[in-house]
Amino acid sequence: MAILKEFEDMSDTPLGKLKQVAEAMTVEMHAGLASEGGSTLGMLISSVDNLPTGNEHGLFYALDLGGTKFCLSRVQLGRKKRRVLEQESTEVSIPPHMMVGTSKGLCDFITEELATFVATEGDGDFHISPSRQREMGFSFSCPMTRTSGTPIKCTKHSSSIDGAVDQDLVAQLTQSMKSKGVDMRVAAVVNDTIRTLAGGRYLNNDVVAAVTLGTGTNAAYVECANAISKWHGVLPKSGEMVINMEWGNFRSVHLPLTEYDHALDVESLNVGEQSFGKIISGKYMGDIVRRVLLKMAEEADFFGDTVPSKLRIPFTLRTHEMSAMHHDNSPDLRVVGSILQDILGISNTSLTTRKVVVEVCVIVAERGARLSAAGILGILKKIGRETVKKGVKQKTVIAIDGGVFKHYSELTKCLENTLKELLGEEVKDTVVIEHANDVPRIGAALIAASHSQYN
Ligand code: ADP
Repeated sequence: MAILKEFEDMSDTPLGKLKQVAEAMTVEMHAGLASEGGSTLGMLISSVDNLPTGNEHGLFYALDLGGTKFCLSRVQLGRKKRRVLEQESTEVSIPPHMMVGTSKGLCDFITEELATFVATEGDGDFHISPSRQREMGFSFSCPMTRTSGTPIKCTKHSSSIDGAVDQDLVAQLTQSMKSKGVDMRVAAVVNDTIRTLAGGRYLNNDVVAAVTLGTGTNAAYVECANAISKWHGVLPKSGEMVINMEWGNFRSVHLPLTEYDHALDVESLNVGEQSFGKIISGKYMGDIVRRVLLKMAEEADFFGDTVPSKLRIPFTLRTHEMSAMHHDNSPDLRVVGSILQDILGISNTSLTTRKVVVEVCVIVAERGARLSAAGILGILKKIGRETVKKGVKQKTVIAIDGGVFKHYSELTKCLENTLKELLGEEVKDTVVIEHANDVPRIGAALIAASHSQYN
C-alpha cells in the first residue's frame, strides 16, 4: 500500500499543476514558432493553408498509408447543402516483404491497387468532369522515410517543413502513377492528426485543433501565418497555416514524473524523447501499470512469494487490457482476475489484490487524461480561446481521434471533465470536444479538395 500511495502522490495532478503544464505548453509553442529547434515541440509547418469549408465539390481521392496496410477512398462532394454525396473505401494489407522493400516496390503496388479502384468509379455515383485531372490527398499514420533501398520506418521529422522527408515517397508514387498510366495528382500530404483536423473543420467551422490519442499522440491546430516567425516563405492567401505540433515530445519540469516513467524512458529506444507521449499515449500507459505491479511484487510479495515472470517482460500488459480492467464493473472484478491470469500468468488473485490493480490503472489513466486536458488548454491559450472576449462566447471545437480516446471511456470522461474544470464556469461551455468519427477516413480527400488546382 505504501508503494501505491507513493505512486499516487507522485502522479498527482492538482489544478495548479495542470495550469503550469498548460502555460509551459503555450510557452513551448511560442518558442517552436519563433525558431528552429527552440522548443521540445516540433511545431512543424504543414503544407495545409486551406482547410475545407464545406463548399468543396467534385470527386477526390485519398490514400491513407499505415505501417501494415493502406486505405484508398474516394468521395463525391456536393458543396455545403449536399456535402458528401457518395463515399467509398477499400483497405489493402501490405505484403510483409514489401514492408522491408524499396519505396518503388511499395508505390508500384499501391498504384496497381489504385488503378483497379479507379476503374470501378463508374459502378457508384462518382464522376469526374472530363477536363479535370483526378486529385488525391495522401496521409500517413506516422511519418516515414523510405528511400530506395531503405526499409519502411516510422521516424521523427528532421525539418521544420512538415512532410519534407515524405516527399521522396510522394515523388516515387507520382512516378509510379505516371508509368502505370494513372493520371492523378497528389494535391496534399498530411499526417493523421491534420487529417482529423480537416475532417472536423469540414463538418464544423468551429473546429480549431485536433488531437490524436492512440498508440501515439499528437496535436495540430490552425495558426495565423504571421505568428510563425521562423517562416520566411510567402504568406498564404488564407493568412492561416496548420501547425503539426508533434506534442508527444513536449517536456516540462512541471510534468509529474515517477520512478516508473524514468525507468521506462531509460529502457526505451528514444531516451529523453517523447516525454509527454510516454505518459499519455496508448503505447506506454499499460507498461507503466506493469512496472508499478512489478515493484509491488518484488518488494512486497504482492502476488505471493514469487515474482510472476511475465510481469518482468516489457509491454506484456497493453493499454487495452489496462482499460478493460479499469472498466470492470463485476462485483468480484472477474475481468481483472482473468486478465491477470491470461496475460500475466497470475492465478487465484483475491478481490483485495484485484482492487489494488484497478487502483493503479485509475492513477495512470487519470494522470494521462488530466495532462492531455492541460495540453489542450495550452493550445487554447496560444490561440486566445481560453477566455470569453468582450462578453462574446465564441464557440471552440477540438476534434479528437485515436483508439485510446475512442475506447477508453473512463479516460475520455476524465479528460473532458478536467478541461471544463480548467476553463472555469464562464468559458467551459464554449469549448467542446468532439469525437471525429468517420470523417478522418475522407479527411485527406477533403484536403485534396481544399487544395485543388481548380480552386
Ligand atoms: P494507431 O495505432 O494508428 O494509433 P488507433 O488510433 O486505433 O491506431 O489506436 C490504437 C491504440 O489504441 C492501441 O495501441 C491501444 O493503445 C489503444 N486501444 C485500443 N483499444 C483500446 C481499448 N479498448 N481501451 C483503451 N485503449 C485502447
